[in-house]
Amino acid sequence: MQVLVIGRGGREHAIVWALRKSPEITKLYCAPGNGGIAELAECVPIGELDFDKIAAFALERNIDLVFVAPDDPLSAGLVDYLEERGIKAYGPRANAAIIEGSKVFTKELMRKYNIPTAAYESFESFEPALAYLQQQRLPIVIKADGLAAGKGVIVARSWEEAEKALRDIMVDKVFGESGNAVVIEEFLQGQEMSLLAFVDGETVRPMVPSQDHKPVFDNDEGPNTGGMGTYSPVPHIPQAIVDEAIETIVKPAARAMVAEGRKFSGILYAGLMITAQGPKTIEFNARFGDPETQVLLPRLETPLLDIVLATMNGTLADLDIKWSEQAAVCVIAASGGYPGAYKKGLPIEGLGDVRDALVFHAGTAVAEDGRIVTNGGRVLGITGLGRDIREARERAYAEADKIRFEGKHYRTDIAMKALK
Ligand code: ATP
Repeated sequence: MQVLVIGRGGREHAIVWALRKSPEITKLYCAPGNGGIAELAECVPIGELDFDKIAAFALERNIDLVFVAPDDPLSAGLVDYLEERGIKAYGPRANAAIIEGSKVFTKELMRKYNIPTAAYESFESFEPALAYLQQQRLPIVIKADGLAAGKGVIVARSWEEAEKALRDIMVDKVFGESGNAVVIEEFLQGQEMSLLAFVDGETVRPMVPSQDHKPVFDNDEGPNTGGMGTYSPVPHIPQAIVDEAIETIVKPAARAMVAEGRKFSGILYAGLMITAQGPKTIEFNARFGDPETQVLLPRLETPLLDIVLATMNGTLADLDIKWSEQAAVCVIAASGGYPGAYKKGLPIEGLGDVRDALVFHAGTAVAEDGRIVTNGGRVLGITGLGRDIREARERAYAEADKIRFEGKHYRTDIAMKALK
């Protein structure tokens, strides 16, 4: 069978790595891929949003399955586009990917179906939004409706900051069309947890929980990033809380989407806050998280391909899905300056010295001379596995230290919350 994965980050490297374990796959492609993916799959220089080229390639090469990993092509309807041309694709259609693509839609869905989330109001014009804002308490959270590469959410701790966020989004349109509406919501306090599930309509097969680290510096300081590291399991959050989140949030969301005529098929990601009143939803994503995938897939014992095929055949509910007892910790090595401006094209040394961890490439490329160079803000994810978080963490850091590139930086406290 021939499979094409769409995307170019660490998440896609982990997906390609997991798919490679299935001998049924005789040929694996990735568009556009990166320097690490190139070692496992044939990378084709087609962008994620270049729908006609993706479809033409899939037809020409007799691709049996396209795995659409990132949010942008899902929201823009790549799965629909491929299906209309007779090409099988894994991931939600656009009318279901809206659960990530529009925060206003998702807040309304949660309100209608009683899914726990932060109290909120949504607005399409600036003046009423500002009037509402002024009646709230600080801190307050302001969110652009549409996709904004993880930057459209502002947790404001002063009135100046809150008003500026609202003005940036709604008046100055710094996120373009994504700012045509905003959500203003209550600030939730607690531990964050990512709970992903393989979903097909009302069938929900939860994955093991994981936790991300968004701010760039230790102790959650500095600006937010795409994610600086993850770990799984999350031993300090009791299973009863995880079960409660599955029953009150993930399953009802899947059912609600079916009830709305928006059957979701693919990976549903619930970003949760574990508050004193129980788990509440911060957001849903319509795909694997990055870097959550880099700790989840190494723990997945059932071949990923089997899960994808079961979803496409309507037999996901019957599949036995196994997870390993091992712990996984992923440390992201980022470019100097990230999440601000950073250099690209810097040579990466020491990759061949890594023995005891998985290295997932996020922003790398193969230079003309064949060397692997930096090509993005988040460069590599180094995943250590072990009997427990402590062991997995030690391995991840020991191996991360062997890799060198100019300006490399990483957080030194990934997974420390689990050890306190
Ligand atoms: P992502 O890149 O994860 O898709 P996003 O732009 O969709 O990000 P959210 O996940 O909704 O944004 O929010 C980003 C971060 O802001 C969250 O991980 C959380 O730390 C914080 N946050 C969002 N909403 C709230 C809230 N109501 N209370 C407290 N913190 C919040």
